[in-house]
Amino acid sequence: MRSHFNYLRPECLTECLDILAQYGSETTILAGGTDVMISLRSNVKKPGIILDISRLPETRLVEPSGETVRVGSTLTYSELIDHPVIRHEFPALRRAMGCVGSLQIRNVGTLGGNIANSSPAADSFPPMMLRDAEIIIQKKGSLRIQKLEKLIVGAYSNTLEPDELITGIILKKAETGSRESYQRIGRRKSLSIARINAGILGRLNDSGAIQDVRISIGSVAPAPMRITDVERNLIGLRPELKTIREAGQMIAQRIIELVGVRQSTEYKQPAIAGLAQKCLEDVFLDSNSN
Ligand SMILES: Cc1cc2nc3c(=O)[nH]c(=O)nc-3n(C[C@H](O)[C@H](O)[C@H](O)COP(=O)(O)OP(=O)(O)OC[C@H]3O[C@@H](n4cnc5c(N)ncnc54)[C@H](O)[C@@H]3O)c2cc1C
Repeated sequence: MRSHFNYLRPECLTECLDILAQYGSETTILAGGTDVMISLRSNVKKPGIILDISRLPETRLVEPSGETVRVGSTLTYSELIDHPVIRHEFPALRRAMGCVGSLQIRNVGTLGGNIANSSPAADSFPPMMLRDAEIIIQKKGSLRIQKLEKLIVGAYSNTLEPDELITGIILKKAETGSRESYQRIGRRKSLSIARINAGILGRLNDSGAIQDVRISIGSVAPAPMRITDVERNLIGLRPELKTIREAGQMIAQRIIELVGVRQSTEYKQPAIAGLAQKCLEDVFLDSNSN
């Protein structure tokens, strides 16, 4: 690890953005450090300044406002999992955050870090996609808001500039009567990243037909995505087991069309179908979930 860098820990957002404005290109932002420490140890990053953002009060709030909730970027997974607003409003995101790494990782890792790291396998992405996640990005003197799927432009690649900081995430509350599910397949039960992950949100109308459904599958493509054509096909149908099985297969087929046939397709196609089917069953058939 490079031993000569300056360590700075600003106490407020203004101070932090001032440092980024002046030294952004030679600075590595450190939130929980779960990803940063690996790249520092392996010399992938050799910054002149480590900017510890874990103490910024402006990025440590959960603020409901009308139809949305603004989630601070530097709250840890454990803090968010325990937060009553997250528990009440975002069950799939809460479950996804509970899947991240181990308790030690969740005690320091942050949602802002997960987004900025931009791994295709990020557990938080499918459930955030269900809630039209918009990312609040600030730099000295300006603020921009970008949809998660626009911010991430490829595997480990995003539109963040060296002087920019993710300060929060805006998530939409679900319509009354909605239910959602998050499922993942990893290599092992714990401490493994997701090989495939899925978030589905849905709502039935008064006559028991599907009124709204949102489907997001992760880890299968460089950037997070919704499977909107399958969503449209499901509207108005009754969620019987046969329909759900077929929907699972359609989702898998659509993903293979989008990402192309690969060596892993033989394994992944049925795995995606099964995972999507499990989520759809949770949402539309299992009265005990959520
Ligand atoms: C053992 C292990 C297991 C893991 N398991 C999982 C898993 O199961 N699922 C999963 O999704 N992830 C997993 N991860 C990855 C990691 O824990 C997450 O990506 C975590 O959310 C990163 O957050 P952090 O606060 O630690 O970020 P850091 O490591 O501090 O930062 C990550 C990157 O984001 C930048 N950054 C951080 N915060 C901001 C910000 N607010 N604005 C702009 N840039 C910022 C940093 O400069 C760095 O480039 C695992 C990691 C480890 C080491």
